[in-house]
Amino acid sequence: MRLRNVPGAREDLADFEREFDWDSLKDKPVKWGDVFGNTDPIMIEIGMGKGGFLTRLAMCSKGTNLIGIEKFSSVLIRAVQKIEQLENAGEDLSNIRLIRMDAENIDKVFGEKEIDRIYLNFSDPWPKDRHAKRRLTSRQFLGRYQRILKDGGDIIFKTDNKDLFDFSLEEAKASGWELLHITYDLGDSDPSNIMTEYEERFRSINKPICRMIIKKPSD
Ligand code: SAM
Repeated sequence: MRLRNVPGAREDLADFEREFDWDSLKDKPVKWGDVFGNTDPIMIEIGMGKGGFLTRLAMCSKGTNLIGIEKFSSVLIRAVQKIEQLENAGEDLSNIRLIRMDAENIDKVFGEKEIDRIYLNFSDPWPKDRHAKRRLTSRQFLGRYQRILKDGGDIIFKTDNKDLFDFSLEEAKASGWELLHITYDLGDSDPSNIMTEYEERFRSINKPICRMIIKKPSD
């Protein structure tokens, strides 16, 4: 959907002062600790969609700075609206920032070892072989993540797509990441699991959810 077709989109984006975009960041990089005004750990979700996961995470992760990254304005605006709705209902989501950008520039927007954790939730599978580099778990992306993650930093990746999951596992192994956790059927085994919008949809049709946690290789 085009941004101009989303009712109120332009006004909402203009009013929401915690949203950044690639066009401004590429000319004027920021130190994210300064943006938040503290030294708390920074976690990012790449491809956050409508922000369900990020807002739920924010509500149970005080003392953590959260940044949601999304390529499309038409989707990002839904996250803005969700944040505003929850804040109007009294929730404190002051630890959230959003960036509208393509994740391929991720290592130009964050400094070396600036990030504690990356969440990848139900990333687009890009099933054609010739598009493998675009998958957010390809070795090209893992290389970018390696630069911005702190030593000991990790990635938590969930998907319903077994082919993408197996591909990601191979890419992580080939790039030297340490596998800390793997399941092909998360089920209800982890009470601390935070649901995403896509996850709710897949669970409602009994599709198993795969999850891995991988740790950045040491330098
Ligand atoms: N994470 C959400 C969830 O689990 O409900 C949304 C999943 S949806 C399948 C994938 C999202 O990632 C879409 O909103 C898409 O626009 C975004 N996305 C895909 N490639 C991206 C990229 N290279 N940079 C930033 N966002 C991207």
